[in-house]
Amino acid sequence: MKTNPAGRHVLMQELASQGLRMTEQRKLLVKIIQEASSHLDAATLLHLARKRDATINRATVYRTLELLKSRRLVEELDLMHLGGEKHFYEARTLNDHLHLACFDCGKIIEYTSPAFKRLKQEISRKNGFEIGVVRLEIGGCCKDCRAKARKKGTNQMNRQRSSAKHPPRAAAA
Ligand SMILES: [Zn+2]
Ligand SMILES: [Zn+2]
Repeated sequence: MKTNPAGRHVLMQELASQGLRMTEQRKLLVKIIQEASSHLDAATLLHLARKRDATINRATVYRTLELLKSRRLVEELDLMHLGGEKHFYEARTLNDHLHLACFDCGKIIEYTSPAFKRLKQEISRKNGFEIGVVRLEIGGCCKDCRAKARKKGTNQMNRQRSSAKHPPRAAAA
């Protein structure tokens, strides 16, 4: 499940070291965020939490997310707005990573690279800027979706052209 090359901060440990009082409900929410195999939005987080504690409410979810954000323990992402206005949350990683978002299937790929680290150093040096947070999201078409499109004998450009002429059809499942 936790196959992220960037490595996550251990949220419970960090919260404890910051001397924060943790209610059982907060602990549960933190655990769910920590163990999530994908980026969660608040509604999904609430849904998962309620399976284990039916008394958890929306306000507790939002307060806990605010707390984690203010302590810089979670990142808030919009992931190319694939989920509309939804925001997504993830435990901060030890190394910055980029998000590749597939417009076709909605898959999010996390990517880390030493080149990205170098770019950050360059940006910081050339601007005399101390970087606190970096978010880089790249939207496009993933490997699987490209392979599917090739099988169908179409490609991204054709699809873009045809969708310009015709109203979009429901995507084949
Ligand atoms: Zn895809
Ligand atoms: Zn991520």
